[in-house]
Amino acid sequence: MQSILPLPTQPVKPGTSTGQQFWQSSEKTIDSYSPADGQLIARVHVSSRADYDRVVETAQAAFQQWRQVPAPRRGEIVRQMGEQFRRYKRELGTLVSYEMGKSLQEGLGEVQEIIDICDFAVGQSRQLYGLSMHSERPAHRMFEQWHSLGVVGIISAFNFPVAVWSWNAMLAWVCGDVCIWKPSEKTPLTALACQQIIGDVLRNNDVPEGVSCLVTGGRDAGEWLARDPRIALVSATGSTRMGKAVAEAVAGRLGRSLLELGGNNAIIVSEHADLDLAIPAIVFGAVGTAGQRCTTTRRLIVQESIYDDVKNRLKNAYAQLRIGSPLDESFHVGPLIDQQAVKGYQTAVNEIRELGGRFVVEPGLIDGSGFESGCYVKPCIAEAENQWPIVQKETFAPILYLLKYTSLDDAIAQQNAVPQGLSSAIFTLNMREAERFLSIAGSDCGIANVNIGTSGAEIGGAFGGEKETGGGRESGSDAWKAYMRRQTNTVNYGTTMPLAQGITFEL
Ligand code: NAD
Repeated sequence: MQSILPLPTQPVKPGTSTGQQFWQSSEKTIDSYSPADGQLIARVHVSSRADYDRVVETAQAAFQQWRQVPAPRRGEIVRQMGEQFRRYKRELGTLVSYEMGKSLQEGLGEVQEIIDICDFAVGQSRQLYGLSMHSERPAHRMFEQWHSLGVVGIISAFNFPVAVWSWNAMLAWVCGDVCIWKPSEKTPLTALACQQIIGDVLRNNDVPEGVSCLVTGGRDAGEWLARDPRIALVSATGSTRMGKAVAEAVAGRLGRSLLELGGNNAIIVSEHADLDLAIPAIVFGAVGTAGQRCTTTRRLIVQESIYDDVKNRLKNAYAQLRIGSPLDESFHVGPLIDQQAVKGYQTAVNEIRELGGRFVVEPGLIDGSGFESGCYVKPCIAEAENQWPIVQKETFAPILYLLKYTSLDDAIAQQNAVPQGLSSAIFTLNMREAERFLSIAGSDCGIANVNIGTSGAEIGGAFGGEKETGGGRESGSDAWKAYMRRQTNTVNYGTTMPLAQGITFEL
């Protein structure tokens, strides 16, 4: 493996990124291994509780200054960060690919998402619009405005180790908040790299120490953020199990949470579909990032009259998949994140067999030269039934379930009959079918697409899902409102004191 960034030889410490001084951390470290080749990439110090408290205090102090900086000026600083990510796109994208195991193209795509959200946030910084309303009282002006919230805690998952942070942080910063990021313990190095990349921008602009902070560690560090009343908003991305724990802890102190959790996404393939469009979208959706996207296509609901045709086309397409190192662009599919994920895949495969599921494309582990990490598995397709417990669950691996439907109502009912509600799609050239799928009687997901697969969202649209996916929305549209507090204001510029609802109160 060639050196991609100047990778540290000593354990690296978290802290804030404006100064080079990192907090004194505990001697405990996280060892970051690449699932690509099983090599130890780096050791990263784990933040102690004392480190965490110091980081929160520094962030709180920084907020007092940062919230006073005009929003367009904050946007200008975010614009400069976007420039830095453009400069380091290849290096960071390569590190994402190496530490997380997604293909280099997807690693670069993830950095592109950071650049895109920076651009979006720059524009947003001049559009933090309030509303004005007509007061029922004479000579009164009524309006609402948005103020910064405070310290935002960002808990992120391993599978989008950097993009999800940026969706939150860039918007939070233009909104005048300060951020404490707790990245996945499986991908700490990419997080440290991001902090380094923006460090110069923060220093050059005299941004107060504490606007961008990092704490490292596992569940404990996430729990500190969730329970801490000093954290105004906890934005957490990860499993539904984690989201339920965070939601409970934050609700217990009546704080705010923004939850982006697991998906169980389906594509409906109608008899009116253009299969030349559908097949590549299904295959990318099911095997891209080795099935480790929250928007991965997990269920395919196919109209019975074209079921065999779709099945055969998918078999042919899967036969062409090349599996190998994510850094080698000739491969389509890389490894799972770690051997624990491989066990999860095997357990799911066994359960499918026990339930009587038939594999159309056989599963299996891959070993031998080039696969020494033990994290490579074969993408597979199983004929299954929607109500099976294993189909109802999100298994974070490239397993695609093939389901059959008769009527569109039946297909939509199957699509919705899972606990999760993130992404969904229909392939059809029939306008009535497409519109029905998007209507109130259609998909119950946060994302519903026509003639596009379930994965590959653009930052311009609000991203998130319903039900056990958590209900949060990040990125585009009006997602910025989650990072601000709303204030309703009424000003009396008259000479009398009329009360609302015509109430009289004589003294
Ligand atoms: P995970 O839940 O194991 O961990 C996610 C993060 O939460 C990590 O930083 C972890 O340390 C932290 N954490 C774990 N338990 C916690 C607790 N009790 N309190 C506070 N923090 C805690 O998830 P993962 O394996 O890293 O990621 C995969 C999952 O993330 C999948 O379910 C996937 O669908 C989901 N995901 C969702 C989205 C989305 O936008 N909806 C995006 C990416 C990933």
